[in-house]
Amino acid sequence: MTQEEKKIINDAIRDIPDFPKPGIIFKDITTLLNDKDAYGVLMNHLAKRYKSYDLDFIAGIDARGFIFGAALAQMLGCGFVPIRKKGKLPYTTISEKYSLEYGFDEVEIHIDAFRDIKNAKVLLIDDLIATGGTANAAASLINKTGAKCEEACFILGLNFLDGQDKLKKQTKVYTLIGID
Ligand code: AMP
Repeated sequence: MTQEEKKIINDAIRDIPDFPKPGIIFKDITTLLNDKDAYGVLMNHLAKRYKSYDLDFIAGIDARGFIFGAALAQMLGCGFVPIRKKGKLPYTTISEKYSLEYGFDEVEIHIDAFRDIKNAKVLLIDDLIATGGTANAAASLINKTGAKCEEACFILGLNFLDGQDKLKKQTKVYTLIGID
């Protein structure tokens, strides 16, 4: 990706200070999604990168990972699998807990999410990686079903947290734009 393309994507993402609580700068991707040119630059880049991976599925993290993941799955001609917050999936699930600053959260996947494809090759995608708790739990879930998380992809990564380094212990990590 050229620096110019990276700038188009970065400029289309809006910073919302103190949301959802004081001290957090929320990276708002709705202004990227409603900008057809910037959204197109991003999706074309991802499709080009992952064309050669021969993926079977894209797994998206609830909820913003669904937007990029489902679009990319169609561009690459593979299936899409949602990884959801606890209690949202209707069929039998397996789940994984992860720690938050206070307490814990839990993500789930359908037990048959990757159909009957042996060692399915899966790309995990979300909009942003911060502490890496959600993505680590999601990658573990993919691998627990018998599929293989080939790589985890993020539009944005918070470099001042160690989320990306922690995740690299279980899968490859690709972050388009690092935030220092
Ligand atoms: P974490 O588990 O700490 O890596 O948090 C990642 C999840 O929280 C992703 O699904 C993000 O969409 C969301 N998230 C965390 N921090 C931010 C932020 N500053 N701006 C937007 N989304 C965030």
